[in-house]
Amino acid sequence: MTGTVYKSTGSWYTVKTPNGKFYECRIKGRFRIQDIKSTNPIAVGDVVEFDVETKNNTETGVIKRIEERRNYIVRKSVNLSKQTHIIASNIDQVFLLITINNPPTFSSFIDRFLVTAEAYSIKTILLFNKIDTYDEESLIEVKYLASIYRKIGYECIGISATTGKNIDKVKALMEGKTSMFAGHSGVGKSTLVNAIEPTLDLKTKEISNQHMQGQHTTTFAEMFDLSFDAKIIDTPGIKGFGVVDMEKEEVGDYFPEFFELKQDCKFNNCLHLKEPKCAVKEALENDEVSYSRYRSYLQILEGEDEHYRTDNWEE
Ligand code: GDP
Ligand code: ZN
Repeated sequence: MTGTVYKSTGSWYTVKTPNGKFYECRIKGRFRIQDIKSTNPIAVGDVVEFDVETKNNTETGVIKRIEERRNYIVRKSVNLSKQTHIIASNIDQVFLLITINNPPTFSSFIDRFLVTAEAYSIKTILLFNKIDTYDEESLIEVKYLASIYRKIGYECIGISATTGKNIDKVKALMEGKTSMFAGHSGVGKSTLVNAIEPTLDLKTKEISNQHMQGQHTTTFAEMFDLSFDAKIIDTPGIKGFGVVDMEKEEVGDYFPEFFELKQDCKFNNCLHLKEPKCAVKEALENDEVSYSRYRSYLQILEGEDEHYRTDNWEE
């Protein structure tokens, strides 16, 4: 039988078959997959093949195979620094919620998020929430930000989770897909999910409950079916995607507008710093590349390797 993992708690996995039946499954013996050094072999979102066993009139499953993942997100394992924990897999898209104030979302955060999502091969849609609260000036800022990201291919929608503005558009984008919601605490993730599906009570906040403090904060992702043809993966305690380990040469590949220009740079390994005849720097000077995007790029590069010197390219 095949099914999708909806939940994982320790050694048991809740798997849903295409005809809607849930099985509690486990893994038997050694189970190796895809050469990923992760602390968990199977994650929420995985498509698995399993055998059904009946014991004391209860049917359980034994997972024997996992389908190759289209993508997956990880966090570093707390105990074993070299190992990672797979939070979820096979994610179609993530909605990044952004607010201009209460709380402010800085473009450096947005760009870091997008780079990581690109590295994970996950499509991102930007939702500018709380537009019901903005004055003229903030609305201009939203429009400006949205224009930057639209230009480079990201879909941007102004929404209000409380008034319901454009929630129908978000729902339409969710149809037939598995989505995640991300963004700073307080941007309105829970309110939005509530507006989309009032009966669904996600645990996005549970991790910060008092009784959890000081404890080993384990994230249990969970998948939910909505009343329309859509799935949500809830990841309590995960605000962003963190930063993936990447080589500095890779960073520019995850800025779609830089990636396109790169073929016109003189050096094919151009880092768009001080190299001569750099198409990205030229586009920056002609206002074709946004300065805030370029600044974020530099910040990420610096974070990747603090000792990297830019002066050895100078003419
Ligand atoms: P989360 O931490 O991202 O889950 O944020 P919440 O959903 O808890 O929202 C934080 C606060 O912002 C709550 O007081 C919400 O009522 C409020 N809020 C969320 N969305 C909107 C919106 O579109 N407009 C207004 N005015 N308030 C909102
Ligand atoms: Zn360049």
